[in-house]
Amino acid sequence: MAFINKILQKTKHKIGEREGSSGSGGLILEKTPLPDMDSPTNPPTMPISPATSQPHSAIGTQPPAYSTMPPQKHVVPSNAPAMQSHTSVAARAASFSVGAYSGGKGGAYVSPQALYAGHSPIGYHATPQAVPSSGQPPVASPMPVPSHHPFYGQPQQQQQQPLPEVAQQPERSYEDTHVQLNEFEIFRTVGTGSFGRVRLVRHKATGIYYAMKVLKKGHVVRAKQVEHVNSERRILAECKCPFIVYMLGTCQDRTNLYFFMEYVVGGELFTYLRRYHRFPPPVAKFYAAEVLLALEYMHARNIIWRDTKPENILLDNRGHVKLTDMGFAKKVLDRTWTLCGTPDYLAPEVIQAKGYGRSVDWWALGILIFEMIAGYPPFYDEDHYRLYEKILAGRIQWPPQFDAVSRDLVSRLLTADLSRRLGNLHRGSADIKEHRWFAEVDWDRLAAREIPAPLIPPQKVAGDTSNFDKYPETPETYGDVTSEDPYADLFVEF
Ligand code: AMP
Repeated sequence: MAFINKILQKTKHKIGEREGSSGSGGLILEKTPLPDMDSPTNPPTMPISPATSQPHSAIGTQPPAYSTMPPQKHVVPSNAPAMQSHTSVAARAASFSVGAYSGGKGGAYVSPQALYAGHSPIGYHATPQAVPSSGQPPVASPMPVPSHHPFYGQPQQQQQQPLPEVAQQPERSYEDTHVQLNEFEIFRTVGTGSFGRVRLVRHKATGIYYAMKVLKKGHVVRAKQVEHVNSERRILAECKCPFIVYMLGTCQDRTNLYFFMEYVVGGELFTYLRRYHRFPPPVAKFYAAEVLLALEYMHARNIIWRDTKPENILLDNRGHVKLTDMGFAKKVLDRTWTLCGTPDYLAPEVIQAKGYGRSVDWWALGILIFEMIAGYPPFYDEDHYRLYEKILAGRIQWPPQFDAVSRDLVSRLLTADLSRRLGNLHRGSADIKEHRWFAEVDWDRLAAREIPAPLIPPQKVAGDTSNFDKYPETPETYGDVTSEDPYADLFVEF
């Protein structure tokens, strides 16, 4: 296990390089009161959870011990509505609306003890993993199996499908993807990333809402993520897939880099998964299938995503999937060696520092399917060393929610042997799509987004932010060009 030691040193080293940033899982450093930056039309109603309201000043050059760190976002208020109120609505999977029965959106409806905290990427981010104190996975599901989802009507005869070329637009030039900061009005924070935050903004000329992701150049440079961020820009500019967030453009000033992306109003799949604790397999199947199409789209362009996790899967206004965060995505023709991703989702070949390719995304899809059905990932441990050992040992305990077919699919995805892992064989993703677990899926209709989603996020007005957690705001200066940019030559594409 010497190589694990090496990896851990590397991981810790990288975490240590990151200074004073807020984490993607909602580690908030600031205690500043909220300025009035909410969406004007829809002041958000979500209360700040105890966890997100805590300062995390200990994070900096030296990450605190995981056990002493406060849990991440989505920690629960105790005023959760009764679980059975979800029942009937969830059963109408195709048409139900969370707003109809959730009785408020104050966080996940599970106890803090049962909460398995958010996933944080390794490489530059300390991870508080609040596993259940008992060490046992959480139990009880508020969401029953939907009986009448159109997805589950007639089993389809599976055929080899061409890749979903759903958004055929010409390549965009640099000018096409370059915007000016002063074209936008800036509203509240809807998410935090490792180097900054994501805010709701409105394009003044058109009134269209977008998400503005702000990355602090200094943090990016100190964490040695310059290449990843430049690659993120290139990949977002290239991807025109309905299951991946569309990037309008980027710009920069002396302090920050700015990405302007379509605003995905439904929030994170993570929020819904923690709210319902776990998904009935048919619901999990819908999200897994749409994620699969997004991965297939990227792989067809030699892009591997490397950051599958429920926090990076957003739901649009109709409940369809949009992948966000291409920070670890990479064009790879052959193999790559970088240790990055999120610990729970790391494939064995990444941990073992073997060269790897798109196979890691199929492993991560297996973890995602397991987590959606079980409510927790198949391998977890507060301690990364033990977590990596468990991943390498590959022993999975199957909760009763898994039947033989779902178990077979997940086992085939979570196969360490690359010559046997589903998705990594000569027929590629077709093997996964043709697995019996996906037998009912009409892949053409799914790619056309004609299959109604099982959950329609509530949206009262354009620019609704109520599906996102509320984050403390800090007074920040955007658009500073008053002095020379010390990083001018590092981000020339922005
Ligand atoms: P990222 O730094 O890209 O991982 O984004 C951090 C968080 O911001 C995500 O987990 C989402 O909650 C939110 N977010 C990112 N992109 C978008 C988007 N295009 N629309 C709405 N929210 C977003």
